[in-house]
Amino acid sequence: MQNKLIELKQEFILKLENTVDIIELENISKDFIWKNGKLQEILKWIKDLSNDDKKIIWPEANKLRDFILEEIEKKEVQIEESKYANIEELEKIDVSAEYTKKPLWHKHPISITSNLLEEIFISMWFKIEDGPQVENERLNFDMLNIPDNHPARDVWDTFWISDEINKNKAPWEKVLLRTHTSPVQVREMLKWTLPIKIIVPGRVFRYEQEDARHTCNFYQLEWLVVWEKVTFWDLKGTLETAMKKLLWEKTSLRFRPSIFPFTEPSAEIDVSCQICSGTWEKNGKNCSMCSGSGWVELLGAWMVHPKVLSGAWIDPEIYSWFAFGMWIDRIAAQRFGVNSSRMFYQSKLKLNEQF
Ligand SMILES: [Zn+2]
Repeated sequence: MQNKLIELKQEFILKLENTVDIIELENISKDFIWKNGKLQEILKWIKDLSNDDKKIIWPEANKLRDFILEEIEKKEVQIEESKYANIEELEKIDVSAEYTKKPLWHKHPISITSNLLEEIFISMWFKIEDGPQVENERLNFDMLNIPDNHPARDVWDTFWISDEINKNKAPWEKVLLRTHTSPVQVREMLKWTLPIKIIVPGRVFRYEQEDARHTCNFYQLEWLVVWEKVTFWDLKGTLETAMKKLLWEKTSLRFRPSIFPFTEPSAEIDVSCQICSGTWEKNGKNCSMCSGSGWVELLGAWMVHPKVLSGAWIDPEIYSWFAFGMWIDRIAAQRFGVNSSRMFYQSKLKLNEQF
């Protein structure tokens, strides 16, 4: 009898080892320990044994039944676990697989420079303002005290919108492509909220002979501060901080007195040329960016005449109005070491992809 139990145990172990699914496991369970199972068959013979033998066999048989139950339970857990492990393996998604290695887009050097300038000025508590690229004559010239016959208008050769559109308009309402971002300053002034501390980055248009520094359209950034008791010193400090952050710490600025319409004082501001590092020559030729001078004109800055402030109902005894305008394209050329800002408009991917 004992041998039969041992044989049954071995048979069970063998069957269990080769089982990989739950239904098969259920069949084994039926086969061995259910009502008409193999263990029951053996136990039927126990009643014919002597009492002494019964005392030995009963515990053995119980032990075997417990063993079978325990092993089936363990196997069940094992089968379930391996089933879920397989599902995980089959259904896993590798998010890093199959990504496209080629960048789909990147920013244009002018956008990079413009964004950097915006960040720098925002860090100095400036607000960013924007305005339309098609303006009327009044906002582009008249309200900035540049009347029709003023020679300053010749400085900016203007792109006028076609006669078809302009013919029935009053002279001051004629539309044009804005020649500078200053109309946004006027729009801001007309809101009558003081003080003002804004920058205006944007695209402007001029009918120009194109060369390394001049293009028919370019990006400008203007700065306008109407604040109590600001001085030229504040303007100088702000500019120096911005240019050193944008270009590099060694950048020098040169302030030259200048004449702008109806402003006093005015200055033109140059930065030391980074293309030739002030050596005036590049590849044996005069540097085309600074024309061999070692300096590049990047900015014009001015303090608005007190009379203009009175005209806008702002008390010049309390407030001062400072402004400057800079060429973002030229700054981008300096920052990225490109020797002609015209190249930014030639859709050259090879150039743009470097930044
Ligand atoms: Zn140079």
